[in-house]
Amino acid sequence: MHKSGFVAVVGKPNVGKSTLVNALVGEKVAIVSAKPQTTRNRILGISTTPEAQIVFIDLPGVHQPRHHLGRAMMDAAKQSVPEADVAILLVDVTSPPGTEDREAAALVARGKGARLLVGNKADRLAKDHVDAAFAPYRALGEFDGYLLVSALRHKNLDLLRQAILEHLPEGPQYFEADDYTDRPSQEVAAELIREQVLLATREEVPHGVAVVVDEWKQRRADLTDITATIFVERESHKAIVVGKGGEVLKRIGAGARPGIEALAGNQVFLQLWVKVAKDWRDDSAAVKRFGYGIPKE
Ligand code: GDP
Ligand code: MG
Repeated sequence: MHKSGFVAVVGKPNVGKSTLVNALVGEKVAIVSAKPQTTRNRILGISTTPEAQIVFIDLPGVHQPRHHLGRAMMDAAKQSVPEADVAILLVDVTSPPGTEDREAAALVARGKGARLLVGNKADRLAKDHVDAAFAPYRALGEFDGYLLVSALRHKNLDLLRQAILEHLPEGPQYFEADDYTDRPSQEVAAELIREQVLLATREEVPHGVAVVVDEWKQRRADLTDITATIFVERESHKAIVVGKGGEVLKRIGAGARPGIEALAGNQVFLQLWVKVAKDWRDDSAAVKRFGYGIPKE
């Protein structure tokens, strides 16, 4: 019997949702950073084996939205959870549950499918402390299964995969076996660039960054020209992203290029521009234009 279905990964920012989805898919479909709210879109990661196809939805973290961007992100999260075959509430056992964990738990409770409580970052606690740290999370709701994992160290992920398969319905293979995401390459490339901007900047700069790929052109059989614009919210942020003599921007390009070349399948000539789009996160049209919010089906 072939199984297939959708698995929504829900949790507050920074618990390791993107790390978990990347680990289960075996490819980097979602960017990861130590800064909260790294993931802005609903990202599909696809894992295909002979017996099953699991489609993971990596959601933006559940948080109190302050900007239009935040609200668009939360709407996307709320829409996909009730429809998922399995909803995973992912929590970070290295800190106690808080308001955002309770909100995420409430969202998971609305799921029609199975609910799994997964405690992540177990690698950071001594064995005899892990269960005690997990206990208050178990009180957050009713679940069909409980599991402690380390998404980073790939611990217990086979057990998690088994638990998911148990609750997956019989179904066809929706995507090609070698597809691992439904995102267009342009969008993945834009995310790889944004990841480097997050690495290179601090404090208020990263949250106001959007990246759009403007051009993707095969110049020769072995070379693709890619032009992208990094939007920031202030002139002062632009100065930070560009750096002295363009040094920071160069580092961003150099960091993003290997991943983009893997994506393009050949060498890439990457050109980056930085532009100011004042307070774009409060501008619903801009949020849409940059591709954030609810993706069109
Ligand atoms: P998200 O916001 O929930 O998608 O979280 P990310 O996947 O972006 O991860 C946030 C941070 O937690 C990153 O610095 C990850 O490297 C780290 N992280 C994720 N999973 C683990 C884990 O199992 N153990 C440890 N120690 N760190 C982790
Ligand atoms: Mg994420």
